[in-house]
Amino acid sequence: MPEISVEVSFEAYCDRCGSGICNNVNTRTSRNRGYPQITIAPCEACISNAVDPIIDEVDNLKNEVDNLNYEVNELKEINIDLKTDIRVANEKINELEERLFNLQQS
Ligand SMILES: [Zn+2]
Repeated sequence: MPEISVEVSFEAYCDRCGSGICNNVNTRTSRNRGYPQITIAPCEACISNAVDPIIDEVDNLKNEVDNLNYEVNELKEINIDLKTDIRVANEKINELEERLFNLQQS
């Protein structure tokens, strides 16, 4: 059967954001049926628009984790100081109770 090949030039734009995506488009012929096919890679602008806010959010969450870890460490240090103060206070109470007991005995 005779066949005529026709070259068709066309432009491609992202339907979502309107960016030109001609570099993302390839053409080929299907192996089985011989039909012309177009393959289109995802629009980089749309991928960036979707991914950039997530990267920013991840950075913000990392900063938040760092700040919370810093606060936890500060609270641990305060807790250690308070435990030391309580131990010293208990020792003084014991000492005073012992002196009081001795005074009551004499
Ligand atoms: Zn797009």
